[in-house]
Amino acid sequence: MPLKTKEQYIESIKKIKMEIYMFGKKIESAVTDPILRPSLNSVAATYELAQMPEYEDLMTAIDPDSGQKINRFCHIHRSPEDLIKKVKMQRLLGQKTASCFQRCVGMDAFNAQYSTTYDIDQKFGTNYHERFKKFLKMVQDEDLTVDGAMTDPKGDRGLSAGAQADPDLYVHVVERRPDGVVVRGAKCHQTGIVNSHWVLVMPTIAMKDDEKDYAISFAVPMDAKGLFMIVGRQSCDTRKLEGGQIDVGNSEYGGMEALTIFDNVFVPNEYIFLNGETELAGVLVERFAGYHRQSYGGCKVGVGDVVIGAAATIADYNGAQKASHVKDKLIEMVHLNETLYSSGIACSAEGVKTASGNYYIDTMLANVCKQNVTRFPYEIVRLAEDIAGGIMVTAPSEKDLNDPKLGPYVKKYLQGVKTVSTENRLRMLRLIENLSLGTAAVGYRTESMHGAGSPQAQRIVISRYANLPEKKKLAKAIAKIKE
Ligand code: SF4
Ligand code: FE
Repeated sequence: MPLKTKEQYIESIKKIKMEIYMFGKKIESAVTDPILRPSLNSVAATYELAQMPEYEDLMTAIDPDSGQKINRFCHIHRSPEDLIKKVKMQRLLGQKTASCFQRCVGMDAFNAQYSTTYDIDQKFGTNYHERFKKFLKMVQDEDLTVDGAMTDPKGDRGLSAGAQADPDLYVHVVERRPDGVVVRGAKCHQTGIVNSHWVLVMPTIAMKDDEKDYAISFAVPMDAKGLFMIVGRQSCDTRKLEGGQIDVGNSEYGGMEALTIFDNVFVPNEYIFLNGETELAGVLVERFAGYHRQSYGGCKVGVGDVVIGAAATIADYNGAQKASHVKDKLIEMVHLNETLYSSGIACSAEGVKTASGNYYIDTMLANVCKQNVTRFPYEIVRLAEDIAGGIMVTAPSEKDLNDPKLGPYVKKYLQGVKTVSTENRLRMLRLIENLSLGTAAVGYRTESMHGAGSPQAQRIVISRYANLPEKKKLAKAIAKIKE
């Protein structure tokens, strides 16, 4: 049975001997660490919801090759409807976790690899597609979480991969053996990597003819020798060590990122999916980026739903819900959020079949979607902070609230409307703080800017697909200009 339960997933991660560091120390287990546990819970939700009959249609799919019911995160999209369901699934999970649930990167990498390995084989007579399908079958059968790793450190942005002073600033092959390759380098901000079973590495940029060692894509298990992670800091992360529930804002769920080092990692041939075919490296990058830009039209919208709900609730708790400007701000937030969703759905509905048989999003619309995501969540949290009031960042701690001497004063002076407890008011304020400034801000705000490519990356694609000559022709025809 390919569908793992939440518990089976957690057990399976516990068994993998990963090398993880945080605050200068080796972590014994990411599963039990209080800072990392909420991020595991978010991925676990992708397993939990797949078991629930009410979400079956969005969370699972039938794989046409095996006929098996699998988690949609392991699915190859076979129709525009699949692409739409993907976005709806991501919105649902954003709503349930109010954080980054991390598993999409692997799903987007599978779909990009599926069509690109096919195209490479057509061009070069290689057998990457069959290899990849074998890997994918294992992922589906075992319901695995796979980290899709793209972003290299990049060093001097003015120089290409092969021209860097330090050759390791882009992941590259350092040794070729008959049975595989040895790779070295790093991938930055790897979302959910410590909650994954495998990592699937792709190049981060198109490669030149003489950069064959950098045109490498492969998968390795998370306990591969030489692979280790240094967990990234998040704002307010150490609040999770205080043992309370209120001050963290979202005590159950979260996201995580890590600097991931490949220190001479051996990759057997069967897990190599691109090796020196520089021409197709850029295609793989663009396809992955396209899918991941679509993803943001789902996940960020779901988290946005929670932000809007929190802002509307705190307006009630503050007694400001009837003020016309508050009502208007909430409408503005909804309008922005649904605009993001519109382009997520639109780029899916306009999806096209690739030569390999899977479906790819409409490139222009997916890039417009992500470009909007680099802006609207900022405005949405700005409005949430506006409605919440300054107390969101100046309220005393949970310990003060529960202190025998101080608690009564905190309760008395931070009371909003009489019918709502000060504790509940503080809970809602802390949730907004978490989403706008705290640990979840990585996933909602700054990730909206840089995840799936920084704004300029989308503008380059938009300009490429803009077809201004055609638009000029339209204008000239209307104006009856003959040249
Ligand atoms: Fe998924 Fe969104 Fe997180 Fe990317 S940012 S992994 S799309 S939840
Ligand atoms: Fe992301």
